[in-house]
Amino acid sequence: MRKILHIDMDAFYASVEQRDDPALRGRPVVVAWRGARSVVCAASYEARRFGIRSAMPALRAERLCPDAVFVAPDFTRYRAVSRQIRQIFLSHTPLVEPLSLDEAYLDVSDNLHGLPSATAVAETIRAQIRELTALTASAGVAPNKFLAKIASDWRKPDGLFVIRPAQVEAFLTPLPVGRIPGVGKVTQAKLGGLGIDTVGQLRTWTPHDLARHFGRYGQRLHELARGIDTHPVCVDRPTQSISAEDTFAEDMPLSALQPALQVLARTLTRSHTPEQPPGDLAQFVAIAQALCARVDLPEHTRYRLLGVGLSNLVERDRLPPQSGLFD
Ligand SMILES: [Mg+2]
Repeated sequence: MRKILHIDMDAFYASVEQRDDPALRGRPVVVAWRGARSVVCAASYEARRFGIRSAMPALRAERLCPDAVFVAPDFTRYRAVSRQIRQIFLSHTPLVEPLSLDEAYLDVSDNLHGLPSATAVAETIRAQIRELTALTASAGVAPNKFLAKIASDWRKPDGLFVIRPAQVEAFLTPLPVGRIPGVGKVTQAKLGGLGIDTVGQLRTWTPHDLARHFGRYGQRLHELARGIDTHPVCVDRPTQSISAEDTFAEDMPLSALQPALQVLARTLTRSHTPEQPPGDLAQFVAIAQALCARVDLPEHTRYRLLGVGLSNLVERDRLPPQSGLFD
Protein backbone atom coordinates (compact mmCIF):
# COMPACT_ATOMS: atom_id res chain seq x y z
CA MET A 1 0.00 0.00 0.00
CA ARG A 2 1.48 3.32 -1.07
CA LYS A 3 1.32 6.59 0.84
CA ILE A 4 0.98 9.43 -1.65
CA LEU A 5 0.87 13.19 -1.09
CA HIS A 6 -0.37 15.75 -3.56
CA ILE A 7 0.92 19.19 -2.58
CA ASP A 8 -0.53 22.20 -4.36
CA MET A 9 0.39 25.83 -3.70
CA ASP A 10 -2.67 28.06 -3.26
CA ALA A 11 -3.24 30.46 -6.20
CA PHE A 12 0.51 30.28 -6.64
CA TYR A 13 1.53 33.09 -9.02
CA ALA A 14 -1.09 35.46 -7.62
CA SER A 15 -0.03 34.65 -4.06
CA VAL A 16 3.62 35.39 -4.87
CA GLU A 17 2.55 38.77 -6.30
CA GLN A 18 0.48 39.56 -3.20
CA ARG A 19 3.31 38.48 -0.93
CA ASP A 20 5.82 40.72 -2.69
CA ASP A 21 3.58 43.78 -3.07
CA PRO A 22 1.52 44.55 0.07
CA ALA A 23 -0.66 46.92 -1.99
CA LEU A 24 -2.07 43.83 -3.77
CA ARG A 25 -3.12 42.01 -0.60
CA GLY A 26 -6.85 41.57 -0.19
CA ARG A 27 -7.46 42.73 -3.75
CA PRO A 28 -8.57 40.75 -6.83
CA VAL A 29 -5.28 40.03 -8.62
CA VAL A 30 -5.08 38.50 -12.08
CA VAL A 31 -1.71 37.33 -13.39
CA ALA A 32 -1.78 37.63 -17.17
CA TRP A 33 0.06 39.23 -20.03
CA ARG A 34 -1.58 42.19 -21.74
CA GLY A 35 -3.04 41.51 -25.15
CA ALA A 36 -6.16 40.37 -26.94
CA ARG A 37 -5.09 36.71 -27.00
CA SER A 38 -3.72 36.52 -23.51
CA VAL A 39 -5.07 33.99 -21.03
CA VAL A 40 -5.18 34.13 -17.24
CA CYS A 41 -2.13 32.43 -15.69
CA ALA A 42 -3.45 32.71 -12.15
CA ALA A 43 -6.15 34.47 -10.13
CA SER A 44 -6.12 35.36 -6.44
CA TYR A 45 -8.95 34.04 -4.30
CA GLU A 46 -10.41 37.55 -4.25
CA ALA A 47 -10.54 37.45 -8.07
CA ARG A 48 -12.02 33.95 -8.10
CA ARG A 49 -15.06 35.31 -6.27
CA PHE A 50 -15.88 37.10 -9.51
CA GLY A 51 -15.71 33.82 -11.44
CA ILE A 52 -12.21 34.40 -12.80
CA ARG A 53 -10.26 31.18 -13.40
CA SER A 54 -6.89 30.11 -14.79
CA ALA A 55 -6.75 29.59 -18.59
CA MET A 56 -9.69 31.95 -19.12
CA PRO A 57 -9.15 34.68 -21.77
CA ALA A 58 -7.79 37.77 -20.00
CA LEU A 59 -10.38 39.96 -21.73
CA ARG A 60 -13.16 37.89 -20.21
CA ALA A 61 -11.55 38.23 -16.78
CA GLU A 62 -11.47 41.99 -17.26
CA ARG A 63 -15.18 42.01 -18.05
CA LEU A 64 -15.98 39.86 -14.99
CA CYS A 65 -14.04 42.15 -12.67
CA PRO A 66 -13.10 45.54 -14.11
CA ASP A 67 -11.49 46.50 -10.78
CA ALA A 68 -9.09 43.56 -10.80
CA VAL A 69 -5.39 44.39 -10.74
CA PHE A 70 -3.66 42.84 -13.74
CA VAL A 71 -0.05 41.86 -13.16
CA ALA A 72 2.30 40.52 -15.84
CA PRO A 73 3.76 37.15 -14.85
CA ASP A 74 7.30 37.12 -13.53
CA PHE A 75 8.42 33.53 -13.92
CA THR A 76 11.89 34.24 -12.60
CA ARG A 77 10.42 34.84 -9.17
CA TYR A 78 7.93 31.95 -9.44
CA ARG A 79 10.71 29.56 -10.44
CA ALA A 80 12.81 30.67 -7.48
CA VAL A 81 9.97 29.83 -5.08
CA SER A 82 9.32 26.60 -6.95
CA ARG A 83 12.95 25.57 -6.39
CA GLN A 84 12.57 26.29 -2.68
CA ILE A 85 9.52 24.08 -2.32
CA ARG A 86 11.12 21.38 -4.49
CA GLN A 87 14.05 21.28 -2.04
CA ILE A 88 11.62 20.86 0.84
CA PHE A 89 9.92 17.95 -0.96
CA LEU A 90 13.25 16.29 -1.75
CA SER A 91 14.35 16.54 1.88
CA HIS A 92 11.48 14.16 2.68
CA THR A 93 11.57 11.73 -0.25
CA PRO A 94 13.45 11.28 -3.52
CA LEU A 95 10.16 10.21 -5.16
CA VAL A 96 8.83 13.60 -6.28
CA GLU A 97 6.82 14.07 -9.47
CA PRO A 98 6.37 17.77 -10.25
CA LEU A 99 3.24 18.52 -12.28
CA SER A 100 4.02 22.21 -12.69
CA LEU A 101 5.87 24.93 -10.80
CA ASP A 102 3.41 24.74 -7.93
CA GLU A 103 2.22 21.19 -7.48
CA ALA A 104 3.73 17.75 -7.15
CA TYR A 105 3.04 14.18 -6.17
CA LEU A 106 5.25 12.68 -3.48
CA ASP A 107 5.53 9.02 -2.63
CA VAL A 108 6.18 9.02 1.13
CA SER A 109 5.64 5.29 1.73
CA ASP A 110 9.12 5.70 3.23
CA ASN A 111 10.20 9.16 4.33
CA LEU A 112 13.73 10.31 4.98
CA HIS A 113 13.06 11.83 8.43
CA GLY A 114 11.31 8.75 9.77
CA LEU A 115 8.14 10.70 10.54
CA PRO A 116 5.43 8.41 11.92
CA SER A 117 2.81 8.94 9.19
CA ALA A 118 2.17 10.40 5.77
CA THR A 119 -0.07 12.97 7.45
CA ALA A 120 2.85 14.07 9.64
CA VAL A 121 5.00 14.46 6.51
CA ALA A 122 2.29 16.55 4.84
CA GLU A 123 1.89 18.80 7.91
CA THR A 124 5.65 19.22 8.21
CA ILE A 125 5.98 20.14 4.54
CA ARG A 126 3.13 22.67 4.77
CA ALA A 127 4.73 24.28 7.81
CA GLN A 128 8.15 24.38 6.15
CA ILE A 129 6.70 25.97 3.01
CA ARG A 130 4.95 28.60 5.10
CA GLU A 131 8.07 29.34 7.10
CA LEU A 132 10.45 29.49 4.15
CA THR A 133 8.25 31.21 1.55
CA ALA A 134 5.47 32.94 3.53
CA LEU A 135 3.02 31.19 1.19
CA THR A 136 0.41 28.53 1.82
CA ALA A 137 0.05 25.10 0.27
CA SER A 138 -2.75 22.58 0.46
CA ALA A 139 -2.09 18.87 0.79
CA GLY A 140 -3.91 15.66 0.07
CA VAL A 141 -2.88 12.36 1.68
CA ALA A 142 -4.15 9.12 0.19
CA PRO A 143 -3.16 5.61 -0.89
CA ASN A 144 -2.79 6.68 -4.56
CA LYS A 145 -2.31 9.67 -6.88
CA PHE A 146 -5.93 9.91 -8.05
CA LEU A 147 -7.27 10.19 -4.49
CA ALA A 148 -4.42 12.44 -3.27
CA LYS A 149 -5.26 14.91 -6.03
CA ILE A 150 -8.92 15.05 -5.02
CA ALA A 151 -7.92 15.34 -1.36
CA SER A 152 -5.59 18.33 -1.84
CA ASP A 153 -8.50 20.25 -3.33
CA TRP A 154 -10.88 19.31 -0.52
CA ARG A 155 -9.81 21.87 2.11
CA LYS A 156 -8.24 24.48 -0.18
CA PRO A 157 -6.83 27.03 0.51
CA ASP A 158 -4.30 26.28 3.28
CA GLY A 159 -5.86 22.92 4.04
CA LEU A 160 -5.01 19.29 4.59
CA PHE A 161 -7.27 16.34 3.90
CA VAL A 162 -6.54 12.69 4.48
CA ILE A 163 -8.27 9.75 2.80
CA ARG A 164 -7.34 6.57 4.66
CA PRO A 165 -7.60 3.24 2.85
CA ALA A 166 -10.58 2.20 4.98
CA GLN A 167 -12.38 5.45 4.12
CA VAL A 168 -11.95 5.33 0.35
CA GLU A 169 -15.29 3.77 -0.52
CA ALA A 170 -17.35 5.93 1.86
CA PHE A 171 -15.54 9.06 0.65
CA LEU A 172 -16.10 8.33 -3.02
CA THR A 173 -19.71 7.12 -2.89
CA PRO A 174 -21.52 10.50 -2.71
CA LEU A 175 -18.96 12.32 -4.88
CA PRO A 176 -20.29 13.82 -8.14
CA VAL A 177 -18.59 12.05 -11.06
CA GLY A 178 -17.27 15.43 -12.21
CA ARG A 179 -14.81 15.35 -9.30
CA ILE A 180 -12.98 12.41 -10.87
CA PRO A 181 -9.83 13.76 -12.55
CA GLY A 182 -10.27 13.22 -16.29
CA VAL A 183 -14.07 13.45 -16.25
CA GLY A 184 -14.84 16.74 -17.99
CA LYS A 185 -18.13 18.37 -18.80
CA VAL A 186 -18.87 16.17 -21.83
CA THR A 187 -18.22 12.87 -20.04
CA GLN A 188 -20.13 14.11 -17.02
CA ALA A 189 -23.14 14.94 -19.22
CA LYS A 190 -22.93 11.55 -20.93
CA LEU A 191 -22.77 9.77 -17.57
CA GLY A 192 -25.69 11.89 -16.37
CA GLY A 193 -27.68 10.78 -19.40
CA LEU A 194 -27.15 7.20 -18.23
CA GLY A 195 -28.42 8.06 -14.75
CA ILE A 196 -24.89 8.17 -13.29
CA ASP A 197 -24.40 11.35 -11.26
CA THR A 198 -22.33 10.05 -8.35
CA VAL A 199 -19.37 7.74 -8.00
CA GLY A 200 -21.60 5.39 -6.00
CA GLN A 201 -23.93 5.08 -8.97
CA LEU A 202 -20.94 4.58 -11.28
CA ARG A 203 -19.77 1.71 -9.10
CA THR A 204 -22.93 -0.31 -9.81
CA TRP A 205 -22.00 -0.57 -13.51
CA THR A 206 -20.03 -3.51 -14.86
CA PRO A 207 -16.79 -2.84 -16.77
CA HIS A 208 -18.47 -4.42 -19.80
CA ASP A 209 -21.38 -1.97 -19.79
CA LEU A 210 -19.10 1.00 -19.18
CA ALA A 211 -16.90 -0.11 -22.10
CA ARG A 212 -19.96 -0.19 -24.37
CA HIS A 213 -20.47 3.53 -23.75
CA PHE A 214 -16.95 4.80 -23.09
CA GLY A 215 -14.64 2.41 -24.93
CA ARG A 216 -11.40 1.68 -23.13
CA TYR A 217 -11.92 4.61 -20.79
CA GLY A 218 -14.80 2.57 -19.34
CA GLN A 219 -12.25 0.24 -17.70
CA ARG A 220 -10.51 3.21 -16.09
CA LEU A 221 -13.87 4.59 -14.86
CA HIS A 222 -14.63 1.19 -13.34
CA GLU A 223 -11.33 1.26 -11.42
CA LEU A 224 -11.55 4.91 -10.34
CA ALA A 225 -15.08 4.34 -9.00
CA ARG A 226 -13.45 1.82 -6.62
CA GLY A 227 -10.60 4.18 -5.75
CA ILE A 228 -8.11 2.03 -7.68
CA ASP A 229 -5.17 3.82 -9.32
CA THR A 230 -1.89 1.96 -9.70
CA HIS A 231 0.08 4.73 -11.47
CA PRO A 232 3.36 5.21 -9.59
CA VAL A 233 4.94 8.58 -8.78
CA CYS A 234 7.27 9.25 -11.74
CA VAL A 235 10.42 11.16 -10.89
CA ASP A 236 10.92 13.96 -13.42
CA ARG A 237 13.93 13.39 -15.69
CA PRO A 238 13.73 16.18 -18.25
CA THR A 239 17.22 15.41 -19.62
CA GLN A 240 15.91 12.15 -21.06
CA SER A 241 13.53 13.93 -23.39
CA ILE A 242 15.77 16.54 -24.97
CA SER A 243 16.15 16.33 -28.71
CA ALA A 244 16.49 18.84 -31.49
CA GLU A 245 16.77 18.95 -35.22
CA ASP A 246 17.15 21.50 -37.93
CA THR A 247 16.94 21.52 -41.70
CA PHE A 248 19.68 23.35 -43.50
CA ALA A 249 19.10 25.71 -46.37
CA GLU A 250 21.39 23.57 -48.49
CA ASP A 251 22.94 20.11 -48.14
CA MET A 252 26.28 20.28 -46.38
CA PRO A 253 29.19 17.93 -45.75
CA LEU A 254 29.53 16.57 -42.24
CA SER A 255 32.75 18.54 -41.74
CA ALA A 256 30.84 21.82 -42.13
CA LEU A 257 28.30 20.97 -39.44
CA GLN A 258 30.36 21.84 -36.41
CA PRO A 259 28.81 25.31 -35.84
CA ALA A 260 25.32 23.93 -36.38
CA LEU A 261 26.03 21.21 -33.86
CA GLN A 262 26.82 23.81 -31.24
CA VAL A 263 23.57 25.63 -31.92
CA LEU A 264 21.53 22.44 -31.73
CA ALA A 265 23.27 21.47 -28.50
CA ARG A 266 21.78 24.66 -27.03
CA THR A 267 18.29 23.89 -28.23
CA LEU A 268 15.98 23.44 -25.33
CA THR A 269 12.73 21.52 -25.02
CA ARG A 270 10.31 21.21 -22.17
CA SER A 271 7.36 18.86 -22.10
CA HIS A 272 4.52 18.24 -19.72
CA THR A 273 1.85 15.54 -19.66
CA PRO A 274 -1.26 16.89 -17.92
CA GLU A 275 -3.71 14.67 -16.07
CA GLN A 276 -6.22 15.20 -18.82
CA PRO A 277 -5.77 16.47 -22.37
CA PRO A 278 -6.37 20.17 -22.97
CA GLY A 279 -10.01 20.67 -23.84
CA ASP A 280 -9.60 23.88 -25.78
CA LEU A 281 -7.09 26.34 -27.14
CA ALA A 282 -6.96 28.40 -23.94
CA GLN A 283 -5.94 25.38 -21.86
CA PHE A 284 -3.35 24.41 -24.45
CA VAL A 285 -1.89 27.92 -24.42
CA ALA A 286 -1.83 27.90 -20.62
CA ILE A 287 0.17 24.65 -20.63
CA ALA A 288 2.61 26.11 -23.18
CA GLN A 289 3.02 29.24 -21.05
CA ALA A 290 3.69 27.13 -17.96
CA LEU A 291 6.35 25.22 -19.93
CA CYS A 292 8.02 28.51 -20.86
CA ALA A 293 8.26 29.12 -17.15
CA ARG A 294 10.35 25.97 -16.77
CA VAL A 295 13.05 27.28 -19.12
CA ASP A 296 15.67 28.17 -16.59
CA LEU A 297 18.03 30.42 -18.55
CA PRO A 298 19.22 33.96 -17.74
CA GLU A 299 16.79 36.79 -18.36
CA HIS A 300 18.90 38.27 -21.19
CA THR A 301 18.86 35.06 -23.24
CA ARG A 302 17.48 35.63 -26.75
CA TYR A 303 15.60 33.00 -28.77
CA ARG A 304 15.42 32.45 -32.49
CA LEU A 305 12.67 29.87 -32.81
CA LEU A 306 9.75 28.76 -30.74
CA GLY A 307 7.75 25.59 -31.32
CA VAL A 308 4.79 24.02 -29.57
CA GLY A 309 3.72 20.41 -30.05
CA LEU A 310 1.22 17.84 -28.91
CA SER A 311 2.11 14.19 -28.42
CA ASN A 312 0.67 10.99 -26.97
CA LEU A 313 -2.21 11.27 -29.42
CA VAL A 314 -4.50 8.29 -29.07
CA GLU A 315 -7.67 6.99 -30.64
CA ARG A 316 -10.75 8.92 -29.60
CA ASP A 317 -12.37 5.94 -27.86
CA ARG A 318 -9.46 5.56 -25.46
CA LEU A 319 -10.18 8.86 -23.77
CA PRO A 320 -13.18 10.41 -22.11
CA PRO A 321 -15.05 12.24 -24.89
CA GLN A 322 -14.40 15.66 -23.39
CA SER A 323 -11.74 17.12 -25.62
CA GLY A 324 -13.16 19.86 -27.77
CA LEU A 325 -9.77 20.81 -29.19
CA PHE A 326 -10.20 19.07 -32.54
CA ASP A 327 -13.98 18.98 -32.76
MG1 LIG B 1 -1.89 25.48 -7.30
